[in-house]
Parts: sequence; C-alpha cells; structure tokens
Amino acid sequence: MSISIVWLRRNLRLDENNVLARAVHESDQVVPLYLWDSVLSANQSPNQLGFISESVAELITAFEKAGSRLVIRNGNVNDELTKLIKETGATEVYIDRNYESHEIKRDRDCKKILAELGVAFVEIKENVLFDSGEVKTKEGKPYTVFTPFKKSVWERIAAESAETICPNNLKPTKNIASLETHTLPDLSSFEQSTFSPKRMQIGGSIEAQKSWGSFKELGIKNYKANRDGLALSGGTSKLSPHLRFGTISIRKLAREALLLSQDVDYSEGANTYLSELLWREFYYNILMSFPEVEYSAFQKKYDGIRWQQNDIFLEAWKSGKTGVPIIDAAMRELIETGWMHNRARMIVASFLTKDLLISWQEGELHFMRWLTDGDIAQNNGGWQWSASTGTDAQPYYRIFNPYLQAKRFDPDG
Ligand code: FAD
Repeated sequence: MSISIVWLRRNLRLDENNVLARAVHESDQVVPLYLWDSVLSANQSPNQLGFISESVAELITAFEKAGSRLVIRNGNVNDELTKLIKETGATEVYIDRNYESHEIKRDRDCKKILAELGVAFVEIKENVLFDSGEVKTKEGKPYTVFTPFKKSVWERIAAESAETICPNNLKPTKNIASLETHTLPDLSSFEQSTFSPKRMQIGGSIEAQKSWGSFKELGIKNYKANRDGLALSGGTSKLSPHLRFGTISIRKLAREALLLSQDVDYSEGANTYLSELLWREFYYNILMSFPEVEYSAFQKKYDGIRWQQNDIFLEAWKSGKTGVPIIDAAMRELIETGWMHNRARMIVASFLTKDLLISWQEGELHFMRWLTDGDIAQNNGGWQWSASTGTDAQPYYRIFNPYLQAKRFDPDG
C-alpha cells in the first residue's frame, strides 16, 4: 500500500490543485500537510503571514469537509517532514515546484534527506502555465523580450490551462485523526505596527473566487480602458496575492479569460487580461533562466551604477513624505493596505531610481516588506524594468514625470 504526503506551499487550495490530484490518483492513502517553515516565516512580510494564516485556516475546514484532515507542523522543515514520514510510513512527498533561490535550496536539501530515507520527492508544475524548459527560442535560448515570448506561448494557453478535476475522495490515511497537528503561530503577538492596518486582500479561496467572480462580471470587459485608472474601483482584479499563494489557480484564470476573449463584447478586455497574466509567466521564466537577477542587474553593464546613498530621501520615499502628491499617496497606500496599483508601482519606482537616484534594490526590499502579493520574480522584474536595468527595458533616460502621470491617470487627485 502506498502512502504519500502532499506538502502544500504556494498552492493553498483544494480546487484545481494538480499536486493534490496527482497524489490522490497515484497513492492509496494521502496525508495533506502545511509546514509553517520557521526560516521562511522569519523573513516574510507580516502582511503575507496574515494572508497565509487566513488561507490555511480555511484549508483546515475545507479538508475536514472533504473527509480528510490537514496536518499542520511548525518548525524546521527537514525535521518536521522526517518526523511525519516516520509516523505515517509515507514513501512519496508531492510538492509544487518553486523558483526563488531560497526555496530551491530548501527543496534541494529536502530531496537529499528524503533520498536517504528512500522517499521520493515528486515535483509538479503548479504555480505557472509554462516552466522555463518549455519555452525557448528557435535557437533553444530563453526569451528575454516579452512580446516574442507572448507570441510563442499564446496558442498554447488553451492546452496548458485545461481543467483538473479535484477528486472527491481524498483518501486520508487510517491514522490521520491521531497524527499530531500544531496550531498556527499567534500573529496577534506581533506588534500592531508591523501589519498594514487596512490590508486590502484577505486570504483563502472563498475570497479569491468572489473577487474573480465580480471582476469577470463587472471589470474584465473594460479592463483595457480602465486598468490604468489609479482611483477606479474594480479597474483591475486585485488577485495578485491569491496568485502568489495559489488560493486560486492560474489555469482557471487563464482558461476563463480565454473563453471570454472569444466573446466580441469581452474580447478586448479579456485579451489584455491574458496578456498581463503572461507578464507574470514571463518574469517567472526570467527568474528560472537567469536566477542571478535576484542579486544583480539583468543587464550586466548596469551593475556598475553608483547609486546615491541618501537615507533622508529614502526614508521620505518610504514613508510617503516627498512632497510629490502622487508619490506620497501611493507610498502611504502601500503601508496602509499592503497593495499598490500597477501604474502607481511604476511611477514610484521611476521616482526612486531616476529622480532620487537610489538603487532599485532598496525599492525592491521595501516592496517585499509590505506587499501582500510580494513575489521575487514579479517584484524584481517590475523594479528592474522601471530602473531600466532589466529585460524589455525602456532606455534609462525615459523618466516618468509624476505630475503628468497624475494628471493622466488620477485627474481628480
Ligand atoms: P491585474 O491588472 O488584475 O492583473 C492580473 C494579474 O496579472 C495580476 O494579479 C498579476 O499576477 C499579473 N500582472 C499584472 N500586471 C503585471 C505586471 N506588470 N507584471 C507582472 N505580472 C502582472 N506583482 C506581483 O504579483 N508581486 C510583486 O511583488 C510585484 N511587484 C511589482 C513591482 C513593481 C516595481 C512593478 C512595476 C510591478 C510589480 N508587480 C508585482 C506587478 C503588478 O503591479 C501587480 O501584479 C498588479 O498590480 C497586481 O494587481 P492586480 O491583481 O489587480 O492586477
């Protein structure tokens, strides 16, 4: 009899979860696990920890309803996983493939330890539609410009976004009820000031489905026209944290947007939305193919830039006290809500790097500290694009004028 563990990480949902579906299909019994990784959580933004907590709390109920039980363990990943393997007699651990350097190292170490125990580590593509090995130029190289990348994958969206049916029977192990489970760390012991007081997105699949439902009904049709409107409510989907933590499936969004794109009334908005989902794919592919971007400029020649070290300017930018209204509003929104509109992200990033002449890496860090959707691939891609050090970069002398941007995208201030 085969017993497997499904270690849920970036895909905190039951619905359309290939990792879970594969494990259930290939094993006789399944133990779902959430590991509150003490190393990772020490470095994660409190807003993200809040979002994860809410999502995992919802998962506990969802697994119970589905006749199974989510086992939660807090601590060192290798120790906790090894313990659970010994307690259950599992022979496989199913995971979703992750791409950030610290996640890759964690998984490499885990794989080694599991191999010594004779346990297989089954990695499944679940965070993206396209893994880097799947998208190459004719010369077999990774794409480094968005438009040709998009052209090369567009016809493949339908195949990659096919629906996976969530199995009805999650095949829990016989001893699942008696397995030790921990409570999630108590976030209320954190200082109040470490969280955004009005965090915009709440974790969990229920919220994700609601947001997607209302965006499909009210927002996507006019997405092309409205997506840059800074003060428009419903102009964008606000699903980025849900994509970051997989409380909704990227395949579902892509498949349903593709379907809408075939309806004349929706096609313009849905096509633009699909294109934005592909920016997310593109930046993941950049990180997979060029992992060094986490620490250096994508265009090597820009590693030598001598950025200004100016703590007063940096602090004014971070706290929204530069005196430029659009910059200050956006920066305060970030701290207040854990979210910032894409257009505002571009404006404040241009201001930091091209007006204050402070390194994009300072901005990148501050965003990771506060964004609920903070994701290295996307954040790094956005910052390097804005600083003109990245892929597809606009030339370094093209600078957003914050006053003209405000006039155009937020005329009523
Ligand atoms: P929508 O407009 O509804 O778009 C739908 C989805 O498409 C988004 O949820 C996102 O997954 C993807 N998407 C949209 N625009 C972009 C884009 N420009 N680049 C990549 N993917 C995109 N996004 C993150 O998810 N995490 C980050 O840490 C992050 N940091 C950024 C930093 C900078 C400097 C910039 C310029 C952009 C950054 N972005 C990041 C991209 C983008 O700003 C957000 O994805 C978007 O604002 C999320 O809002 P939404 O879900 O309403 O987007």
